[in-house]
Amino acid sequence: MTTDEGIVIREHRGAFDVETETSVVVCSLRSKLRKNLIYPERGDQHHTVEKVGLIRVINPVTIGDRVRISKQKDDTGAIEEVLPRRSKLSRKAPGRRRVEQIMIANADYLIIVLAVKNPTPNISMLNRLLVAAEAGTLTPVICLNKMDLWTLESPDIQKTFEDVGYRVIPTSAHTGQGIEDLRNTLASRISAISGPSGVGKTSLLNALQPGLGLKVREVSLSTGKGRHTTTYLAGHKLDAGGLVIDTPGIREFSLWDIRPEELPEMFPDLSKYLHTCKYHNCAHIHEPGCGIKDAVDQGLISPYRYKSFVELYEELKEDE
Ligand code: GDP
Ligand code: ZN
Repeated sequence: MTTDEGIVIREHRGAFDVETETSVVVCSLRSKLRKNLIYPERGDQHHTVEKVGLIRVINPVTIGDRVRISKQKDDTGAIEEVLPRRSKLSRKAPGRRRVEQIMIANADYLIIVLAVKNPTPNISMLNRLLVAAEAGTLTPVICLNKMDLWTLESPDIQKTFEDVGYRVIPTSAHTGQGIEDLRNTLASRISAISGPSGVGKTSLLNALQPGLGLKVREVSLSTGKGRHTTTYLAGHKLDAGGLVIDTPGIREFSLWDIRPEELPEMFPDLSKYLHTCKYHNCAHIHEPGCGIKDAVDQGLISPYRYKSFVELYEELKEDE
């Protein structure tokens, strides 16, 4: 038995493809191993999953993780250790239990894709993903796709979010607009690409790298929504260097491990006005003398951004 280090690039029914310097090794995570797995939890401290107590995470290993593996004679392997992460994109796992699901580890960027139309842009989901990126220390990049469908009536998403300070790349997988810019952004980095289904994630990946040959889903003409076909996470290596990880169409994304009081700091446009609130413990919802609400009234903060803040705040409060 030998050991090696690598990156998890694909997950398929409990098996993980780990890319090492020399090959891709199919690795298991047997329950016996799972129990003794060395696992970084909060900062760089290592614990075994067992020691963490109640297992708070449903998937201790995920795409993008750097792992130490042991190799068997038949060239299969087993994951022995997950190395400390630089970043992680997590959500509360769907369902009623309070457990974390780590979607992607060690990504530099979270590319949040939305379409000008078909489907209608989901601003609330966008704000949620922006918060998740801030919380997990990924740099968010907004990719506004289907620019070929842009009309004067389209909402000015680009300006709204550039004003907050986010990077926005307008693209069209059909005309090629912005593809070069996106390709340069992704080069030599690990990026997670996310957004509701039907916005054109697969088409963008194919445009970025012809030959990837990913299957594009047909959008239902009646609902404008895409059908869900991706059921596993996979990383795609780019010719320009770098790895893009496609996440399955996200319908549900509940924030994980954020206290309601921490939320304003994850809205850069709101946090600017924090010092102008009359009360130190202002929740920025109903309090008198709230500087953030004043800024919304004065048109300094987008009402849609504030609305998303209130929505998320109330959700986190309920979770507590
Ligand atoms: P995904 O679910 O996000 O991966 O979306 P797909 O890549 O499967 O695309 C969904 C639908 O949108 C397909 O019918 C694509 O042909 C279409 N589509 C993707 N990108 C564009 C674009 O830039 N402009 C237009 N008009 N349609 C696009
Ligand atoms: Zn306030």
